[in-house]
Amino acid sequence: MTMVVGLTGGIGSGKTTVADLFAKYEINVIDADVIAREVVEPGTPGLTAIINKLGADILLADGTLDRSKLRQAIFNQQPLKEWLNSLLHPLIREKMQDEIKKATSPYCLLVVPLMVEKNLQVMTHRLLVVDVDEEIQVARTQQRDQVDPEHVKKILAAQASREKRNAAADDIICNNGDSTVLENKVAKLHQQYLEMSRLYP
Ligand code: ATP
Repeated sequence: MTMVVGLTGGIGSGKTTVADLFAKYEINVIDADVIAREVVEPGTPGLTAIINKLGADILLADGTLDRSKLRQAIFNQQPLKEWLNSLLHPLIREKMQDEIKKATSPYCLLVVPLMVEKNLQVMTHRLLVVDVDEEIQVARTQQRDQVDPEHVKKILAAQASREKRNAAADDIICNNGDSTVLENKVAKLHQQYLEMSRLYP
């Protein structure tokens, strides 16, 4: 089985940026956010179950899931939220496993923003955490999403603490520096993971 390196970090820490750098080495990147959308695409058992539960009103005119309507429907509705999680989480995990099996690079990257919160590091052989000082994290996210700092801080508060995430890590990549510093760090980690991947048939 291919060695699986989990990649996580808080909002705006640089997960996508880091994953893109690994992808340049032709490492297969499996992205939980992409999979979470795929399991509710039209025609999937995931979307069918949601329609059966909430009615066809939950769809946009083009037949795709109206995500903002779904968010509103589950807001403050704990049992419904739990129902949705118990539907989607197994579908997401199953699809992740399928993609890991299909990976052809010496090791693959499994990117999951809420890896530590959902305890999904059990699916990985090694966990890489992107760490960044909160001040930089808030500033970069604010700039990227054109939102105010309070909005970013609210999301931060709902995520695992930096300490908890870092404590779960095998490797920590500090992303306080510029893109060249980051590229060099990824280059070193890539060599390290290539070495380690030889242990995985
Ligand atoms: P999210 O969890 O919110 O999807 P993320 O962890 O994937 O975020 P990125 O989108 O990769 O984070 O990075 C957040 C923002 O910070 C982006 O606009 C990105 O271009 C920028 N960024 C990332 N790393 C650096 C860096 N080393 N120097 C400057 N800007 C950076």
